[in-house]
Amino acid sequence: MLVDSHCHLDFPDFAAERDAIVARARAVGVDTMLTICTRLDEFDEVHAIAQAYDGIWCSVGAHPHEAKDHAALEPEQLLAFASHSKVIGIGETGLDFHYDLSPRDVQERVFRAHIAASRASGLPLIIQAREADREIARILEQERPPPGVLHCFSSGRALAEAALDLGFYISLSGIVTFRNAEELRAIARDVPLDRLLVETDAPYLAPVPYRGKRNEPAFVAATAAAVAMLKDIATEDLAAVTRENFFRLFTKAIPTAQ
Ligand SMILES: [Zn+2]
Repeated sequence: MLVDSHCHLDFPDFAAERDAIVARARAVGVDTMLTICTRLDEFDEVHAIAQAYDGIWCSVGAHPHEAKDHAALEPEQLLAFASHSKVIGIGETGLDFHYDLSPRDVQERVFRAHIAASRASGLPLIIQAREADREIARILEQERPPPGVLHCFSSGRALAEAALDLGFYISLSGIVTFRNAEELRAIARDVPLDRLLVETDAPYLAPVPYRGKRNEPAFVAATAAAVAMLKDIATEDLAAVTRENFFRLFTKAIPTAQ
């Protein structure tokens, strides 16, 4: 059994065939998926998807790209949504200085509102960090939120180590299968097994051998196989340990019966 710790099942890419996509994931053993909220005005739709399927959970948050539309966000707004039974995490949030689609100071303010909501609810943060390693490390070290996850990890070693020191988990996406990702693989080899998660970030970033196609949760199996090779363990063992890690971190999620 496998967990896809980060996907976007509400995106229009999936609208016409969501049932089929969930069925294909289950057919390859992906029984648990965390579908991620990126804008508060889309929460209802994300939440409805989680409500509709066993083993699908959701988050509440505003992606750093969307921070400009959430500039006055207060932790209480997130907490109001976080009380729903299927909401298990806060995010995705963080800093994305690659695209800079929102002003950096607004991204930081909105990130700190998510941190406050994580602290108040005890729900883990789901963090997007892109070309902002030093700033993310500084904010986390200052705020010391409860453990969360650096999703779709593609940052440098220093941020991985800072996050691990704070009890955070590292989630690997299809990027780890890309030919030019040697540096990421070197970092992944050194992340303790009990702090690793795997994800698709579907519809983006399909792993090899699907690279370039639309990604979907079933493909997390390819990422898990690649990470198992890196860790020199069987794919079933990697699947089992990342599943255990997921439920240890996201304590509000209930495992489906196996
Ligand atoms: Zn995402």
